[in-house]
Parts: sequence; C-alpha cells; structure tokens
Amino acid sequence: PLVLGIETSCDETGVALVRGDELLVDATASSMDEHARYGGIIPEVASRAHLEAMIPTIQQAVGEADVDLSQVDAIAVTAGPGLVGPLTIGAAAAKALSIGLGKPLYGVNHVIGHACVDQLVDGPFPGRVMALVVSGGHSSLLLVDDVATAVTELGSTLDDAAGEAFDKVGRLLGLPYPGGPHIDRLARAGDPNAIRFPRGLTAAKDQDKHAYDFSFSGLKTAVARWVEAEQDAGRAIPVADVAASFAEAVVDVLTAKTIAACRRHDVDTLVVGGGFSANSQLREKAAQRCAEAGVDLRIPPIRYCTDNGAMIAALGSAVVRAGVAPSTLDIGVDSSMSLTTVSV
Ligand code: ATP
Ligand code: MG
Ligand code: FE
Repeated sequence: PLVLGIETSCDETGVALVRGDELLVDATASSMDEHARYGGIIPEVASRAHLEAMIPTIQQAVGEADVDLSQVDAIAVTAGPGLVGPLTIGAAAAKALSIGLGKPLYGVNHVIGHACVDQLVDGPFPGRVMALVVSGGHSSLLLVDDVATAVTELGSTLDDAAGEAFDKVGRLLGLPYPGGPHIDRLARAGDPNAIRFPRGLTAAKDQDKHAYDFSFSGLKTAVARWVEAEQDAGRAIPVADVAASFAEAVVDVLTAKTIAACRRHDVDTLVVGGGFSANSQLREKAAQRCAEAGVDLRIPPIRYCTDNGAMIAALGSAVVRAGVAPSTLDIGVDSSMSLTTVSV
C-alpha cells in the first residue's frame, strides 16, 4: 500500500510517502529558526508555522514522488505524544485528506515512529528488537515484539530527556539553542574522563523498579555546581572538558542500561532513534558496547533520527500491513500518549 505520513508533533512539518518499506519521498519544513531566538519551542508559533507549511509540504512531497494524491491508499498522522496545537494541525490535515480522498486514516505514535523509521533504511526488523528512543522530549527504552501491534515500555526518563539535558547544559555554558549539537562538537575536543559527573539511577539493578529508567536532572545540576565553583574560584571554565565529561555521563548511562535490558530480555538487535541519536558520543559508545555484547546495532542516518514524515509513513505502513483497524475520524490528539499505544 502507498501510505502518506504527516508529522507535526513539534517544530517540523513532515510529509512523506512510503510504499511497503520503500521511502518514495520525505519532505520537511522547520520553524526552528523562529524558535531559536526564544531559547525554546513556542507552541503557538510552531502551530502557525505548521498551518502555513502544511499544504506546500504535501504538494512538494507528491510532486517529488510524481504520484497523484488519488493513488494514496492510506493516511497516517502523528496522534501523540507532542505539543497539542501542532498535533492538532497535522490531525486536521490528515482528516481532511482522508475525507477528501475517501481513504482510511491511521493515528500513530510519534515515539514508536522514531524506532520504526529504521526499517526504511536497514530493512524489516529481524523479529523482536530493543529500541532506545532519545530526543528533546523523550528517553525511552522499548521492547518491540511487533512494531505495529506489540510494544512494551521498559523504562523512560523520570525528569529530563537526554536532548533536553544537553540543551540545558548548553544554556549554562552560554551556547546557542539548541545546545545539543554544540556540546557534541565541543566534546570531541575534550577529555571525557576529566571530570567524574554522577550517573543517575545506575544503582538500580534488573529487578528494581527503576532498573531501566533514566534521570538526567541531577547530572545537569552537578554540572551547574561544578561550573559555578570554578567561576567562584576565578578559574577559566575548560568548556571542552566539561562538555566531554557531561556527554560521557549521559551516554554511559544510556548505553549501559540499554545493553543490560538486551541481556535481560535476550534480544540481540538494538534500534536507536530520535533527535539525540545524532549525537556522536552516543553513536560511538553504542557501537562499542553493542560489539562487545554481540548485539546488532541499527541507527538510521541523522536525517531520519530527527522528526520527519518518513517515520510516520513507515509506522502507518506497518500498521496497515498488520491489518489493524483504521482510526475513526473523531480521534483526538494526545500530548502524553502512552508509549505502548502504537495506533489509536
Ligand atoms: P520529541 O521527539 O521527543 O517530540 P524533539 O522534537 O525535541 O522531541 P528531535 O527533533 O527528535 O526531538 O530532537 C531534538 C533534540 O536532539 C534536541 O534536544 C537537540 O539538542 C538534540 N540533538 C540534536 N543533535 C544532537 C547532537 N549531535 N548531540 C546531542 N543532542 C543533539
Ligand atoms: Mg524537533
Ligand atoms: Fe521526535
């Protein structure tokens, strides 16, 4: 089936066309430039940008793929989690297309889409996989038995997401928003073992409640205190070493817990997705630890890790093929949609 996917959970307007596991086109418009000067996403600004970008982005996608909208078999749209205003714009567009074209609508989960998109790049999942989805809004560990129908949440962050922690530490180091990519770049020139920052929740073992949960807000506070103490002592801040040591603490915890979960559940394929999986420290450590543990690592290229329409079209395609019933036209959007709900 030919599936058109629409993503609007945050600041990216994404529209893509997928046939089976083949990506025909992935068109994206972003309003990040408008948010950068505020140091965070302004939902109202993002909503208006989605409204303006939606029809041109749909037209761009169908134009580049050289298909006619009438050939589309199903419409998939992000139903949550995400920002309510932005999600509502995407859902309205998807419902309009569904009614206009007389084709079924599938409201799907954004976070599971971040894992599913890997199938477009690396092929179908070889059975059960572990998925680590790390972004500005999420750090979650999912056990995926079937990406269309059976996803279990093993753990998630109790406070800040990994990308969010990077953005906050970026702000305290005086870097532009979003700080994640800047810290990544600085960290490459620093010593990851220069400062020993805390590893949150790592004392929790397999049987504990928080064995696979994350916590990064204590780490962020530790970095802030360390920087303040140096400033008070009149010393210059070794920014590259701080960035590298902070990044090391984050990716150490993420990868250690993920590998432990793979062992515990006897899973030998790990899929990593979400905007933070652009991070080079994470990519390196995940590759190293997966190799040591005999786990096959799948991380799509960066353009499929950040928010995009392809991930939603990919998940829609999987859901359609699994024979799941379409959504009704009265579905709403859910800003805090459960990570075990694949489609609504
Ligand atoms: P969500 O997917 O949870 O709704 P989001 O839209 O913020 O949230 P993405 O666009 O997938 O998610 O990811 C953006 C986040 O990824 C930001 O926090 C950004 O700083 C971070 N990020 C992007 N590139 C890097 C990098 N190279 N190193 C660290 N963080 C990065
Ligand atoms: Mg984004
Ligand atoms: Fe995302």
